[in-house]
Amino acid sequence: MNAPAKVRIEDILDRVERYRPDMDEVLLRHAYVFAANRHQGQVRRSGEAYLIHPLSVAWILADMELDEVAIAAGLLHDILEDTETSPEEMELEFGPVVTRLVVALTKLSSFESKYESREATEAENFRRLLLASTDDVRVILVKLADRLHNMRTLGFLRPERQVAIARETLDIYAPIANRLGIGSIKAELEDLCFRYLHPQDAERLEKAIGQRSQAAEKWFGDLKVTLDGILEKAGIAGTVEGRIKHLYSIWQKLKRQGVEVESVFDFLAFRIIVSSVADCYAAMGLIHQQWPPVPGRIKDYIAIPKPNAYQSLHTTVIGPEGHPFEIQIRTEDMHAIAEHGIAAHWSYKERGSQPADDSRIAWLRGLLDTTQGSSPREFLDSLKVDLYPEEVYCFTPRGDVFSFPRGATVLDFAYRIHTDVGHHCVGATVNGRWVPLKTELNNGDIVEVSTSNQQKPHHDWLDIAASGRARSKIRAWLKREEKDRAEEVGRKLLEKELRRLGKSWKRVAGCKEMEELLKARGMASEETLLAAIGFGRLAAPAVAEELAGTAEAGREPALPASVAPIAFRKEAPVLEVTGDSDFLVYRAKCCNPLPGEEIVGYVTRGKGVAVHSRSCPNVQKLLYHPEREIEVRWADGAVSERSPKIRIELDMRFRDRAGLLAAISQVVAREGSNILSCNLHTADGALGTVTMTVEVRDKDHLNRIMDKLRGVEGMVDVERRGAFRRVAP
Ligand code: MN
Repeated sequence: MNAPAKVRIEDILDRVERYRPDMDEVLLRHAYVFAANRHQGQVRRSGEAYLIHPLSVAWILADMELDEVAIAAGLLHDILEDTETSPEEMELEFGPVVTRLVVALTKLSSFESKYESREATEAENFRRLLLASTDDVRVILVKLADRLHNMRTLGFLRPERQVAIARETLDIYAPIANRLGIGSIKAELEDLCFRYLHPQDAERLEKAIGQRSQAAEKWFGDLKVTLDGILEKAGIAGTVEGRIKHLYSIWQKLKRQGVEVESVFDFLAFRIIVSSVADCYAAMGLIHQQWPPVPGRIKDYIAIPKPNAYQSLHTTVIGPEGHPFEIQIRTEDMHAIAEHGIAAHWSYKERGSQPADDSRIAWLRGLLDTTQGSSPREFLDSLKVDLYPEEVYCFTPRGDVFSFPRGATVLDFAYRIHTDVGHHCVGATVNGRWVPLKTELNNGDIVEVSTSNQQKPHHDWLDIAASGRARSKIRAWLKREEKDRAEEVGRKLLEKELRRLGKSWKRVAGCKEMEELLKARGMASEETLLAAIGFGRLAAPAVAEELAGTAEAGREPALPASVAPIAFRKEAPVLEVTGDSDFLVYRAKCCNPLPGEEIVGYVTRGKGVAVHSRSCPNVQKLLYHPEREIEVRWADGAVSERSPKIRIELDMRFRDRAGLLAAISQVVAREGSNILSCNLHTADGALGTVTMTVEVRDKDHLNRIMDKLRGVEGMVDVERRGAFRRVAP
């Protein structure tokens, strides 16, 4: 149901009463009055009263048909963060359950966080939120409603914030809505993000759909009559509904196939809702008699539901005049679950009870378990990988079925069975044929894993594994092994230095100087110290001197022995290492990070600190090395008109037209950049491609150029070469 233009508490009460006739009106009115009081005088960026926001969030929750506790939490969700209200006061007013929800929704401030960087604090906040959600899923449901309303009103923020928030929403919140099965919120979030992240594409697509809407209506009408007739003749009661697929899903499909919108068949689909499972199969059979199905496109998610509990039959048939179109067939119950997911389940239940065995909650809990003890960044990495919809279904020889993200391999399968099976996996027999570890899994494969006691995980396994579970297990193993090795190396180095000073490890272990040194460095144990030496973060001679009591006063034993203390070149101080300016810092060649981009630093052996773009694939590989990570940032005011420019390669695709190169070079020149090289290819009937090297100052400069290029007539696609691509589409 569409939200009223301006939501009032009365609208919410009316809506709730429709599905909960005995609702707790007192609680909702109390929450409303309290929120109105506390947010009094606050305004949103849109200029509207702040209260509009919690009211809209509560409306979204009421539309999901959630209980009063969730809706009250929606009304109060920003109270602790944005007003002078304490949890204690709230508990007196609303009791422990509502308060617990709102506390879980309240972010730790950077002041309370144990992490220095904003990114790590955000990741930690998010982990807390998910943890609380495994106890009470209403936490994440309120958060999703909050994010949905913020996305609907994103237009009032600065453009950079718009893009950053849309990115985060598309990477994390939309996939979470999907994993919890809430199709309606997932689709709206994706479409909103799409409009901010690819404005030109969105506009073009909407225009194309608009132009074909008349044809669409006629087509809908004709096919609906045929489909209705098929059901009626067979005595199946059901409704047939034609629908426009959501914008982002059309765009993804077109992009996958590298085509433009050709006809209505690309964006329209049918949904048939019947009253029983038997009718679902019967209807599909009859439809296949009318129009032949496209082989390989029949999906039976009733027999094998998706991990988010989604059920339906999907098929694509060759319609009139040879145009293929899609049909989904499901029951009423399946439809409710497809739209509202775990929220649908919730609203069937008694107030306050949580479905304990729900596979969607189990997934969340599993994710938090496998990332226990990992750094905030590793957690986010695992989360992003695990959030991709699982697409491939495979079987054990006994017939157990497992689902995997697209691109998963035999190695992922092994880790899904057991961690030890993964660690010792050497290959597998797939459908009776022997295959190596890196073999990609296909739908329906029967997989029997082979192990060997001699086998152990390797670094390149991180490239082979596609599932978050396998990757985190491999990483944990490597980390442990690396640390053991570093400790060993560190101990040897330190013993050598101590001997030089006439001491021995046995004598200094546990001594007063050791205790002081560990305390001063914030280290938990002697093992940590040895590992730090082994990894090259501490210099053995300096540590030995300090332990032997012969260190010169005031000298810090911080520098790795092999890194010369060279500061950055004076003329271009664009990078800084937080808290330590004596490192040699350089930009990594693999990802060529630009000022303004999110970056990560790694201490390399003997070469100083390599600075990578946060999204560089190599960073993903370095994740198992948190000891070597070091915080870096772009120096304030680092970039000016006179700053050295950085070369960036761009890949473009276009529809052939005269004057395109002229238009491109004009855009680049107007933005104050140069084209250093340019390669153009065209072929009949296909999109043309251009590869071009340009000079830019920073991320904003590059973004401006790319934006303008996307606006050039005939341009289909502009991408930075080597831009981070996801594991799965
Ligand atoms: Mn909010």
